[in-house]
Parts: sequence; C-alpha cells; structure tokens
Amino acid sequence: MTVHTILVVEDTPANMKLTTMLLRREGYRVLQADNAMDGISLAKSEQPDLVLMDIQLPGMDGLTAIRMLHRDPATRHIKLIALTAHAMKGDEQKMINSGCDAYVAKPISYKSFLEEIKRILAKPRPATE
Ligand code: MN
Repeated sequence: MTVHTILVVEDTPANMKLTTMLLRREGYRVLQADNAMDGISLAKSEQPDLVLMDIQLPGMDGLTAIRMLHRDPATRHIKLIALTAHAMKGDEQKMINSGCDAYVAKPISYKSFLEEIKRILAKPRPATE
C-alpha cells in the first residue's frame, strides 16, 4: 500500500495541529511548514504527493507560492490544494489561474475535505503539462 505524503503549509498553530491530526488519522505522512519559503524548500527536497497551502501567510502569500511550485519543473508534478479563510469575489478565478488543482474554504468540513484530498491524489496528471 502506498503511503501518500502531504505537506501542510499553514501559519496558524491550531489549524496546523487539527489538519495534521486529521490527515495522520487517515494514514497520510504529514510534513509541516509555517511559511511559504520553507514550504517551497520542503516541496523541492521531500517531493510530497500533495501540498496543502494556506493562502494567508506572513511574508510570501500562498497563491504566489502555488504559482512558483506550479511553474518550477522540480515541483510542477506535485498536486496543489489551496486553503482559503474566506473566499471573496474573484478569488475563485485567481486560484484556478494560479495552477492549483482545487481549493477548500475554511472552516473545513472534515468529510468533504478528506474526500477532496483523496480525489486530487487519485487524479492522473496530464502527460503534456
Ligand atoms: Mn494563515
């Protein structure tokens, strides 16, 4: 059985704790970063299957980090889910344009959150991306 690795980039300790607990309970291997730069660096070195990226981060924001991961040949195969605190008008298009595979609005509903992760992990990558 393949154990998928998920990198969580989240600056709020309570959210990090909860998300990590939920994912570990499902059997995922979880890596953590509390800022975008560390997240990008970990994504390159650890090659997780998926990055769960908070949008509102101190310093570099999550959408910028997602664009960088999406454009870098070293990380562009990694699946990306954006986590947004409150989706505002126009955010949906911005997120889709950034290259993420999906986005989830906080507060998360555990069941649909885990289903979305499972769905994205199972999604094949187009060969010509
Ligand atoms: Mn945040």
